[in-house]
Amino acid sequence: MTECEVKVRGRWLPCTLYEALVERQEIMRCKYCHGPVQALKESSTGARAHIEHLQRHSGCRFPVGTFSGVESRHPLARK
Ligand SMILES: [Zn+2]
Repeated sequence: MTECEVKVRGRWLPCTLYEALVERQEIMRCKYCHGPVQALKESSTGARAHIEHLQRHSGCRFPVGTFSGVESRHPLARK
């Protein structure tokens, strides 16, 4: 995932991976399931910079590999 949402003055706004890494946003959520996410920099092991859930959720279409096929709100969804 390369995009998420960030809370700015009480509103959720789209946020790119680049912005999330550079501006070190604290309050971020997945734009699909609204679960908490974190932005990770490129690692020394070669993994690309990316955004991931703090806690995996099978009801989210991201990442596709763990999606159950039925979308649902993350149990820790941020409002
Ligand atoms: Zn999600």
